Amino acid sequence: MKNKWAPTLAGIALLIMVSFSLSAAEEQVVAEKTGVVLEIPDGARAGQSFNIDEATEAYINLLSDENRARSDAYMEGGYWLELWNFVYGLGLAWLLLGTRLSARMRNLAERVGRWRWLHTFIYSAQYVVIASVLSFPLTVYEGFFREHSYNLATQSFGAWMGDQFTSLAVGVLLGSFALTLIYAVIRKASNSWWIWGTGVSVLLLIFIVFISPIYISPLFNDYKTLEDSPLRTSIMSMAHANGIPADDVYWFDASRQSTRISANVSGLMGTTRISLNDNLLNRTAPEEVEAVMAHEMGHYVLNHGPKLIINFGLVLAFGFAFVAWGFNRALRRWGQSWDVRDIGDTAGLPLFMALLSIYFFAATPVTNSIIRVHETEADNYGLNVARQPDGFARVAMRLSEYRKISPGPWERFVFYDHPSGRDRVHMAMVWKSEHQQGDTP
Ligand SMILES: [Zn+2]
Repeated sequence: MKNKWAPTLAGIALLIMVSFSLSAAEEQVVAEKTGVVLEIPDGARAGQSFNIDEATEAYINLLSDENRARSDAYMEGGYWLELWNFVYGLGLAWLLLGTRLSARMRNLAERVGRWRWLHTFIYSAQYVVIASVLSFPLTVYEGFFREHSYNLATQSFGAWMGDQFTSLAVGVLLGSFALTLIYAVIRKASNSWWIWGTGVSVLLLIFIVFISPIYISPLFNDYKTLEDSPLRTSIMSMAHANGIPADDVYWFDASRQSTRISANVSGLMGTTRISLNDNLLNRTAPEEVEAVMAHEMGHYVLNHGPKLIINFGLVLAFGFAFVAWGFNRALRRWGQSWDVRDIGDTAGLPLFMALLSIYFFAATPVTNSIIRVHETEADNYGLNVARQPDGFARVAMRLSEYRKISPGPWERFVFYDHPSGRDRVHMAMVWKSEHQQGDTP
């Protein structure tokens, strides 16, 4: 999900960011019109002369030069933003440590009560608030002004700020809770904290993913049951035919925030649900909605939620090991001037987060590739289930209104957490070609 609250929490519990990328199992597109009839370009029509490459080009050519330049710029600007976010975060950590503001925040927390867990909780809450406030200039540029300049946002500044405050409240609560637990583990397990810390983080992750559809997502959007319609019938039919025990489909008012079309799978076990947004419902043909929903069902049936949690748990274990190694080295050198005692001291949290962000910045291609592999699987699954190669190709083209359509191989490897638009259209046309003799129109 293009989440509203993650960006404001720059630097807090990575767990929340990871749970965020789990719900990023979704498709987003820029809605461009209200027509609901599937358009198949001439070069992509089924028949004797159908050719995979020509059909792919016919779809790619739907994107005007102007729109292509714009989506390339949006995407490439996003690469730079990743770098600026990283550098800004390091600067923030340096500021908190170097000015001893972090040490003062700890001293303040230690004046309240006798319990250490309470000190940790209070320090963490201060940290989340201060980190959010200090990174606000970047957040407002990235989340508000930039989105509006690309016509991706629909919110007024006031409404957007309202969402930011909600995010902050969620971040303070969940972030402080998570950090209190992790610090308890760090103090208890001493040298092997990174192993136990990974275990606790995975449990926290499971907890957050589990509660998010019920307690977090509704803070930002209204979720409702999709009313009876031929579309609902076809979605439920796909679900039942594929062993999904769902008896409902949800939709939500994403148009409150943005013009993007999206759907997602969220939750875990008892709370799992598949939701689509109103932009998708209102602005695409039923074939496109079916293609997207079948993709989301793929995430569910192929157990992508639990698999991603395991994958990210492993990535996190290496990250914590790196932090364990780097923290003590940094402390030997600067610990005194920062007034940070040891790794169990909350005043060292900015250093902890800075090291973790260095690791995750370097691991960007790895984390993106983990997600991309699952997305490709869901694409394939979705094509087989919905049997709507043209609906899928059309949706991939809409997505390319704000995602660069043809990245180079390295660019794709490093920055893409979904297959590129071109790859998706091509995949759909291969499927279409192979099913020409069968029952596809
Ligand atoms: Zn997906």
